[in-house]
Amino acid sequence: MKNEASAAETATGLAGTAADAGGASGTRQPRSPLVLTGAFAPGEEAIWLDALRRAMPEERILRLQEVAAPDEVEVAIVANPDPAVVRRFPALRWVQSLWAGVEKLVAEPAFASLPVVRMIDPQLARTMAEAVLAWTLYLHRDMPAYLAQQRARQWRQLPYVAPADRRVGLLGLGTLGEAAAHVLRQAGFSVQGWSRTLKRFDPQAGVATFSGSDGLDEMVSRTDILVCLLPLTRQTRHLVDGTLLRRLPAGASVVNFGRGPLIRTSDLLAALDAGRLAHAVLDVFDEEPLPQASPLWLHPRVTVLPHISADTDPATASLIVAGNVARWRHSGAIPPAVDRARGY
Ligand code: NAP
Repeated sequence: MKNEASAAETATGLAGTAADAGGASGTRQPRSPLVLTGAFAPGEEAIWLDALRRAMPEERILRLQEVAAPDEVEVAIVANPDPAVVRRFPALRWVQSLWAGVEKLVAEPAFASLPVVRMIDPQLARTMAEAVLAWTLYLHRDMPAYLAQQRARQWRQLPYVAPADRRVGLLGLGTLGEAAAHVLRQAGFSVQGWSRTLKRFDPQAGVATFSGSDGLDEMVSRTDILVCLLPLTRQTRHLVDGTLLRRLPAGASVVNFGRGPLIRTSDLLAALDAGRLAHAVLDVFDEEPLPQASPLWLHPRVTVLPHISADTDPATASLIVAGNVARWRHSGAIPPAVDRARGY
């Protein structure tokens, strides 16, 4: 149950001290603890715990194994959690994901009745926009071709193309896609984006926008570098298939920073092998880590990245979590959660 005393305390400042929250006075009930759980790399859980505790010193944040009274836990902070752990917390009210992509949580029956709040962090959007710019420039300035030429000891100057003449098409204009669009425009590229609902940018921004399947066809047919920043849902799985790839102008390239299954890998390989597609920069895959046997590893037209385009920063992301928790303590309102029907 929500703790009335802590809600009243937070109303005065959105965040009290640990003593305010209960234990010390002996008259007030302590806040319900928050549990942190997930599949972390070695040492990662400690980093998150430290960052979260710094961001909200008034909260009790426990590792899974530290929870003595599971029926008191109302909020779980998760990163690829074991679905079975959810059943251990009968009073759970909502789940805060530390990651922006939540397709696994949304698909998991154990979370079906729980609001899942995904990570929306301006710092993450900046990091992703930087990655989009970096790898767009890599393709724009023909770095894969020059690398291949160097390996062949070949001295050949390729024609220069101005960024204004390079058309970048963004699939997805959400938190990350919109930030990428602005950074690409600042770098002088011709930028367009596609989303489920039609986005309206300030005319000064100079970003052309599209929606619907006709809009997708139109945008793709005039895209030199296609950047995928969509969430993985029933609608977006294998959206980038042979049909879509054939609509791209000959010699176009693809960047996938969203999720592996947005692209049908066999169709991508066919387009690369046929030479219709110049290059693919892939940061996400159907299976991660990318299996040793994958033909993508050594494909001359593929750049493989180990899911690094935009790492969540524990310091800034913990402040986002702290804000969500403080507002919930204050008002009882659960932060905006994933729309189950849309899948994102
Ligand atoms: P977001 O804010 O939810 O934006 C999603 C965008 O995709 C929106 O513009 C949405 O359209 C559009 N969209 C969704 N379904 C669509 C459909 N069926 N047809 C057309 N457009 C559709 O998500 P985000 O924060 O930008 O993140 C996007 C994804 O990036 C995440 O889900 C995650 O998988 C991935 N990601 C990857 C990394 C990495 O390191 N590689 C890091 C962070 C995130 P509307 O605007 O109309 O809603």
